[in-house]
Amino acid sequence: MSYTGRFKGEVNSFRILKLFTFFIAALPVAGAAMAAEVNVYSYRQPALMQPLFDKFTAGTGIEVNSLFAEKGLAERIKAEGVNSPADVILASDIARLSEAVEAGITQKVDSQTLTTVIPASLRDPANHWFALTQRARVVYASRERVKPGEVTTYEALAEPQWKGRICSRSGASDYNVALLAAQIAHHGEARATQWLKGLRANLARKPQGDDRAQIRAVAQGECDIALGNSYYMAVMLADPAQRSAAEAVNILFPNQQDRGAHINVSGMAMAKYAPNRDAAIKLMEFLSGKEAQQLYAEINNEYPVSPDAPWSALMQSWGKFKADALPLADIARHRVRALEIVYETGFDQ
Ligand code: FE
Repeated sequence: MSYTGRFKGEVNSFRILKLFTFFIAALPVAGAAMAAEVNVYSYRQPALMQPLFDKFTAGTGIEVNSLFAEKGLAERIKAEGVNSPADVILASDIARLSEAVEAGITQKVDSQTLTTVIPASLRDPANHWFALTQRARVVYASRERVKPGEVTTYEALAEPQWKGRICSRSGASDYNVALLAAQIAHHGEARATQWLKGLRANLARKPQGDDRAQIRAVAQGECDIALGNSYYMAVMLADPAQRSAAEAVNILFPNQQDRGAHINVSGMAMAKYAPNRDAAIKLMEFLSGKEAQQLYAEINNEYPVSPDAPWSALMQSWGKFKADALPLADIARHRVRALEIVYETGFDQ
């Protein structure tokens, strides 16, 4: 875990600090108003979030204290209970957002700003979570060995034509589970299971590594096709050590003739016992606003949820595409069953 702002080196004394803050704030001393603050528990990397927090603080005077961890934040909030200092939870992937709601550590947020900016398909029907960015799960295809137009749909990746030509990360990874959950939502369990079996039969090697490792494997000729999130192309192009691998593949958006490419999201929720509710709503509304949305696109090449925010030049170069309009809540609903199917089919074996 890493800590910024008030959390730095102060984690265990946070409660005491909070009580102290409350005590001081309650004193009727003229001119001694405490600076407003908001506490963020973030699964999203500080390198991405800090510039957005800085902009928010510059505009509102509200300090942002952030606690970053790759896992365990929901468990931590649950353990902290009513004394949790967490106001806002930031997560990438619908799995983390749904888990937070299921764990009972979130609350409903009534904000006209949020429900106006963020389409209904990209937020919780009960307004417990809201998407902030979208990412497409695209096909990365070898420029040398896959002809334009050869890849059409996710479904077609299970056809014998691709035998021994596909690389994949673990089927149990959040991104692949969400894709399978979407297949269940569209086609039902039986067809989704058949599809996963077909995909498994086409793998060039045992599932391993992250999305970037699949792109490298395509570049090295181990396979011709891989599935990965759209922004990884940008991450690799920006890294001299990975640039040539990224340049060896084309980014292709599947299912453009029918329902559109599968979309996942990063997003936010308000913690159930948020001590700084008003500041938390301000931060959430700021993150959905044009300025912050543009930063998400520029820094991480994620697609904004706000239609007003421009895409980065790189994203524009990938072209406009049709996105699957399936509500993320429907994907979340099939998540647990999808993971079971991954294990039942022995996808990773
Ligand atoms: Fe990722």
